[in-house]
Amino acid sequence: MNWRATILTLYPEMFPGPLGLSLAGDALARGAWQCDARNIRDFGIGKHRTVDDTPAGGGAGMVLRADVLADALDAAVTPDDPRPRLLMSPRGKPLTQARIRTLAEGPGALIVCGRFEGVDERVIEGRQLEEVSIGDYILSGGEMAALVLMDACVRLLPGVMGHEQSGEEESFENGLLEYPHYTRPREWEGRAIPDILLSGDHAKIARWRRAQSEAITQARRPDLLKPKG
Ligand code: SAH
Repeated sequence: MNWRATILTLYPEMFPGPLGLSLAGDALARGAWQCDARNIRDFGIGKHRTVDDTPAGGGAGMVLRADVLADALDAAVTPDDPRPRLLMSPRGKPLTQARIRTLAEGPGALIVCGRFEGVDERVIEGRQLEEVSIGDYILSGGEMAALVLMDACVRLLPGVMGHEQSGEEESFENGLLEYPHYTRPREWEGRAIPDILLSGDHAKIARWRRAQSEAITQARRPDLLKPKG
C-alpha cells in the first residue's frame, strides 16, 4: 500500500505543485505516493458555490462554513479511513521531525487547508480535525503548509531518497543540528577544509562531527538540548 495524501482546498491546482518535480515528483510518477487534491468549492452553497460567511460576533474577514467543509470531508474519507485528519493552522501543535516520521510510516494523511480568517470551530470538533502548525507566522492559506508537511513525509518514504543514510544524519534526527559540510575545492578564497575531514580517520571524523553538532546546537538552538518535560 502506498502513502496517500488527500487534500481539501479551494485551490486544488496548487497540488502537487513543487512536489511534482525532483525526487518527490519521480516518486509520484512511480506510484510510491499519491496526491489527491479535492476542491471544497464543489460542496459550496447555491449558484455561486459559496464556502464562507462573515464571522459570528463581528470582526474582519470571512470564515469557512462548517457544513460546507463537513460535506467535503465526508465525501473524501470514509469513517473507517485510518489516516489522520489534519487541519493546517497556526494554532496547531508545531510540526516536528518526530511527527513527520510517524506520519510517513503510516498510510498517509487527510489534510484540510484553511483560507480567510479560518474555519468554523464546530467542524474542527465535529470531525475531530487535528490542528497542525508549520511555525509561528501567518500564511495566507494552508496550501503551502500542506506542501511542506507532504514534502517532509515523502522524502522519508522507502526508496525516495537516493541514499537511505542521508535521512538519518539530518538535523533533528538525533536531537541535534547537523555538523558543517564541505566539498571540493580543498581551498576556496583562502578557506581550507578542516584537516581532520581529509585525515581518513573515520572514528576521529565522527567524534569531530558530533562535537560540531553539539556546539552549533548549543549556540543556535539551546532549547533542543533541554530535557523534554
Ligand atoms: N486568523 C487565523 C489565521 C488565518 S490564516 C489566526 O490568526 O490564527 C489562513 C489559513 O492559512 C489558516 O486557516 C491555515 O489553514 C493556514 N495557515 C496560516 N498560517 C499557518 C501556519 N503557520 N501553519 C499552518 N497553517 C497555516
